[in-house]
Amino acid sequence: MKNTASKNDVSARGLTPEKQLQTLRDLLNDARQPERRDVFRALVKSWLAAGSLKQMVADDRRLWRDVSEAWNPCLMYDGNGAAWGVSLIPSESAVPATAEEWAIGDFALLMLNPLRDNLRGPCPRCQRYYIKRRETKVYCSKRCGNAASASRSNAALDKAKREALLKSAAKFWPQWTERKHPNRSFWIADRVNGSHVRMRTKKGWKPVRRVITGKWVSRNAVAIQRMV
Ligand SMILES: [Zn+2]
Repeated sequence: MKNTASKNDVSARGLTPEKQLQTLRDLLNDARQPERRDVFRALVKSWLAAGSLKQMVADDRRLWRDVSEAWNPCLMYDGNGAAWGVSLIPSESAVPATAEEWAIGDFALLMLNPLRDNLRGPCPRCQRYYIKRRETKVYCSKRCGNAASASRSNAALDKAKREALLKSAAKFWPQWTERKHPNRSFWIADRVNGSHVRMRTKKGWKPVRRVITGKWVSRNAVAIQRMV
């Protein structure tokens, strides 16, 4: 890995695990390198599904060989103090030729990263990979979590609205006679629109402000009659 981060992010052995994990996460979301990203994503996906690297490579000796041979440890004097550090260098002297080779290298770095279990994704809403900060997190950010719960409650609201309208239509269903109007659906829609339909929400009863049409009644005739 290239050492491009600021001094604070770099330990004696290169990037800190935190910084390196962020770099790998960015690669998983990198729209500028879609092929490398997609192969890397596929590897991470099967690793997360398998639960461990051991499980993941159990039936794939070739994958295991490629991952384990992607990097070589290189002992280097780090220049400050008496210690040696271990750096990773590509095992082949040539630059990786394909997106697959790049992705295998990325994946091998992830497997070497002590914080790898904090990598999560894709976020069900924005499809990005992210580094989890809390135990129960499902979404990448507060923003995605809030937006998802808003759309869930909108869906619940739509459902409650529909139920209330169906119920109201069911009330009028038996009251229709041909003398009142030749078209049953039209007549029922008119009645429903003229009555104060309300629905129950978490915050109590609320008026349903929606105009329905005869077409809507016809389309939902089966559901309405079930409620009669
Ligand atoms: Zn998200």
